Amino acid sequence: MGANLLVDVCEKGEHVALSRERDTVNRPARRGVAPAVKTTIPVPLLAALLLAALLPAVLPLAAAGQPAPPQTSTVPLRNGVYLLRGGSNAVLAVGTDGAALVDSEFRNPDGLLQRIADITSVPVRYVVNTHAHPDHVGGNVRLAGLGAIIVATEGAADAMAQPFPGPNGREEPPIDAAGLPRETFQGSRTIVVGGQEARIIEAPRSHSASDAYVHFPAANVIVMGDLHHSNEYPVYDANMGCRCGSFEGNLQAYDAMLAIADDDTIFVPGHGGPTNKREVAAYVAMLRRVRDEVSMAIGRGLNADDVVALRLLADDRSPTWPGPDNRDAFIRVLFNALTTGVGR
Ligand SMILES: [Zn+2]
Repeated sequence: MGANLLVDVCEKGEHVALSRERDTVNRPARRGVAPAVKTTIPVPLLAALLLAALLPAVLPLAAAGQPAPPQTSTVPLRNGVYLLRGGSNAVLAVGTDGAALVDSEFRNPDGLLQRIADITSVPVRYVVNTHAHPDHVGGNVRLAGLGAIIVATEGAADAMAQPFPGPNGREEPPIDAAGLPRETFQGSRTIVVGGQEARIIEAPRSHSASDAYVHFPAANVIVMGDLHHSNEYPVYDANMGCRCGSFEGNLQAYDAMLAIADDDTIFVPGHGGPTNKREVAAYVAMLRRVRDEVSMAIGRGLNADDVVALRLLADDRSPTWPGPDNRDAFIRVLFNALTTGVGR
């Protein structure tokens, strides 16, 4: 166990395939969210988590008789901002004469480009990458070829230019130079496209060594990238030497995002369905509780297997936007972070 388990799994094909297989339910849109064109806003993670704890039978009952949503889909959010769902989440903000895209899914972006074309004919002028992982930058090359300017933090741009340490020690090649960010920043950066303002804010070391989130203030939408997965417990880079993420940094990033949100803010995670401030705050409180419980267990002399056996976490799989059951892997990451400092 240990280091090999700490690899970020968000880009693994099996992870994505698992999520898609379990996507079986559709639900009505929540208040304050525009009606969906092709699918609807789901009941998010925390509600499912709490329901699962209180009433285990509710999950299969909720799934019964519901049509399966498309594996890729478009979810209108608000004010010309759309969630483009395709294994990882991308977000399109459409302005009067151009659009901005946050993240670009996988290496073959044909489906992504079609979903964009179905929404608008204005060109994508900017692609903002929340971080360097292959499932969020894969379409960069094609989009840059169509004229988009790729924007990312300096750290993410550096990571994109290096081979990516994948599962089982395999390394994936860096993306082609044409897909690397042309504009980089530290701290924060604001872009305006056709009247759509996007505030890009660098996060502390969190899910990866360099993450950012994007705030669309007019739409009141915060795109979190993989700072949040609403369909599973957190995933961190934690076996990549100096390219590690950080559990505590992730908590700081959550606090910063919650501080600029209100009760109507739509939060878009990197994986899973859209969520809101109340649910994100509850998720963060859960993370702090679990951190403290793992820390106390370590203090009592328990090893990683013992702590996993405590079953501190509920099954997190939402009936509408389900992800892998990564409870045990997350507890091991947290245990390792708290005992070694790697990823803490
Ligand atoms: Zn990621």
